[in-house]
Amino acid sequence: MVRINIDGKELQVPAQSTILEAAKNNDIFIPTLCHHPKLTPFGGCRLCLVEVKGFLKPVTACTTTVGEGMEVVTSSPEIEELRRLVLELILSDHPNDCMVCEKTGSCALQELAYMYGVREAEYAGERRNYETRDGNPFIERDLEKCILCGRCVKACDEIQGVEAIDFGYRGFRAKICTSYEEDLDCEFCGQCVAVCPTGALTGKLWKLKGRPGTTKEIDTVCPYCGIGCNITAHVKKNEIVRITSAEDTWNEGWLCVKGRFGYQFVSSPDRLVRPLIRTAPKSGMPSLGRKGIKWGEVFREASWEEALDLIASRIREIKETHGADALAGLSSARCTNEENYVFQKFMRAAVGTNNVDHCARL
Ligand code: SF4
Ligand code: SF4
Ligand code: SF4
Repeated sequence: MVRINIDGKELQVPAQSTILEAAKNNDIFIPTLCHHPKLTPFGGCRLCLVEVKGFLKPVTACTTTVGEGMEVVTSSPEIEELRRLVLELILSDHPNDCMVCEKTGSCALQELAYMYGVREAEYAGERRNYETRDGNPFIERDLEKCILCGRCVKACDEIQGVEAIDFGYRGFRAKICTSYEEDLDCEFCGQCVAVCPTGALTGKLWKLKGRPGTTKEIDTVCPYCGIGCNITAHVKKNEIVRITSAEDTWNEGWLCVKGRFGYQFVSSPDRLVRPLIRTAPKSGMPSLGRKGIKWGEVFREASWEEALDLIASRIREIKETHGADALAGLSSARCTNEENYVFQKFMRAAVGTNNVDHCARL
């Protein structure tokens, strides 16, 4: 631990902390755009500039490690003027379309512009103009809104290990690019979308369906696999319009493509809502082989009582004729732990066999 002073407060902080971490852990606000607590520091946005006694110039709090006896000032007229200048420069080349932007209400840039009262771009000049939009099915990349904070690049590399995107070109032409600037073709985990502080990266599936703050947010568990990531379903008019995951969950907000983008099945009209019972095939129809399905087989809707009675009678019949080990039960990762527990208990205790398995995958 080292002793430091931030804005007149005497603090004891871990020796390897950055000034930004030390301040945040002690409820001292320093604005940032490129910093993300789960990613390595970048120091690119220059908003976290602070004064350190004895240093000739302001330094970035996210990349400067604390030292014994360090005295830090996080807010002064000079520092605030520098931050305002940085914001004005960023906004001088940023589309002013918050009215229709998916990120409105959760955009870090918008929030800082509000805090600093930056209403109009002071510096008119050349603007980036990217006409092409990405043809991938999940992620909208509106790079005119990109502030080149690098969070997406780091998330793709440091969290997902994919390196599908990186900085391309230099200076004013600098841009987040895929290889050869082709359409994004990656794992579509959406970690880049989750960390993007602006509307540059958003989900195509939730476009115009409801921005954060206008939806009902329900914390739940991803239904797809046994990992059980914590997710938040954003619901509007009884339909899930978006999935997010909070950073303070055990999965730290990271999801895979299924958990983040595969939620439409919930409202699909094709979902089965009643049991179906397979009826006998027409006589003379050939079998289709291993699955045992035959031409002409049809399913008819049944009540739960009828379906459960049929299952119970068939289990009893097989058990009496061939013994309990002639039966096997296969459970699903899409069920809860409790449901899977009950299922294996049923197979072992009620049916009388240990033939029970679980796919734990799709
Ligand atoms: S979706 Fe995932 S894999 Fe694809 S660019 Fe974003 S972070 Fe990388
Ligand atoms: S796309 Fe978003 S996360 Fe990536 S550099 Fe631009 S603003 Fe940052
Ligand atoms: S399917 Fe993906 S998001 Fe869902 S629990 Fe498994 S790893 Fe997590």
